[in-house]
Amino acid sequence: MLGPSWTDFSSSPRNDSAHIRVPHCGVPNLGATDILAMTRILGIETSCDETSAAVLEGRGDEVVQKSLVILSQDIHRVFGGVVPEIASRAHLTSIVPVVERALEEAGITLDDLDAVAVTNTPGLVGALLVGMSYGKALAFSRGIPLLGIHHMEGHLFAAALEHRDAVPPFTALLVSGGHTLLLDVEAWGKYRLLGATRDDAAGEAFDKVAKLLGLPYPGGRYVEQLAVEGNPKHFRFTRAMVRKNALPTDDDYYAFSFSGVKTAVLNAVRASKDIQADKADVARAFQDSMIDTLVEKTWRAANAYSRQRVVLGGGVACNRTLVAAMRARLGPDGVTVFAPTPRLATDNAAMIARAAFFRFERGERAGLDLNAYASSPIPGLIAA
Ligand code: ADP
Ligand code: MG
Repeated sequence: MLGPSWTDFSSSPRNDSAHIRVPHCGVPNLGATDILAMTRILGIETSCDETSAAVLEGRGDEVVQKSLVILSQDIHRVFGGVVPEIASRAHLTSIVPVVERALEEAGITLDDLDAVAVTNTPGLVGALLVGMSYGKALAFSRGIPLLGIHHMEGHLFAAALEHRDAVPPFTALLVSGGHTLLLDVEAWGKYRLLGATRDDAAGEAFDKVAKLLGLPYPGGRYVEQLAVEGNPKHFRFTRAMVRKNALPTDDDYYAFSFSGVKTAVLNAVRASKDIQADKADVARAFQDSMIDTLVEKTWRAANAYSRQRVVLGGGVACNRTLVAAMRARLGPDGVTVFAPTPRLATDNAAMIARAAFFRFERGERAGLDLNAYASSPIPGLIAA
């Protein structure tokens, strides 16, 4: 279908009869009612091709998702990639109804909000500006605090929305269409950046291979479906920087590179005499290469920092074969692997609001001069 479509919305049942709110700027009095005191944050995400809004309620790590609306811009399928100008314009037409729907699903009005949190980096600047300008106007007109949230920090919090044990310390692997990051999360707000991709992002590699195999965009899930039928022995593609004798001091120990496997796929497709017959085998060999690399690097990080938990995030974390392989490799070491359900693994506003809870409770606030940036380091980086 062309044009935006409602793809996903849900809410947990309203349960605010016993709800007593404490003003965000006041000092909470420590009476019996304080046990019930809650904060409600509206999250807004428009960094790429999803217009999303969510309402979360709670405090500390006890946060409940009251609503989540995600409007995916299907129009980009026609072009085989996100067209920035079209994305910005589509956000403009959908931001108001998306927020209204999120409030409605949560059973609240604007009067009930304590803060508004917007993704302000990284992403497409024109797309970010739409959500950010809307958030600023809302915060200013309602007299409530504004928070600017780093999109990748949002991904770190996504699994915590569903799994109460998906909290630090943990190793994080964030794999999306635009990013591939391996982090050690010592505590919320304390992140060691261990590795990143030197060329394509993991999701980008899936999408490009999908295109080579004649599959629709975005192609990650089609590659996964096709790979199920593939013969793992027909092809074997390169795995970059996973030498057995590698040491943590090597500069590529935690790094990723996916351009080599992409070229290997291209060569296999060109050399094939019958690509229709071979394409499931190609998909299988490609996915095996991706998964082996992602699992090996994540194992290295969890092992080096003795972490008992691994948290996955980003669209590629929807790949069930990846999650199963991660569990098979790390499980025997006593490591629990947490992967969000698909709607929380891909871009969504609930994870932005969840990260905002942490920053809000630390007293962080953005000014109305908050700006949008195409790229910027995740906040809270500490030395690796
Ligand atoms: P971004 O907005 O940065 O593109 P998302 O977090 O929305 O990132 O994730 C989209 C990416 O996830 C796309 O590259 C898509 O192909 C990939 N993806 C989604 N499902 C799967 C899957 N099952 N296997 C592999 N990749 C997937
Ligand atoms: Mg996206």
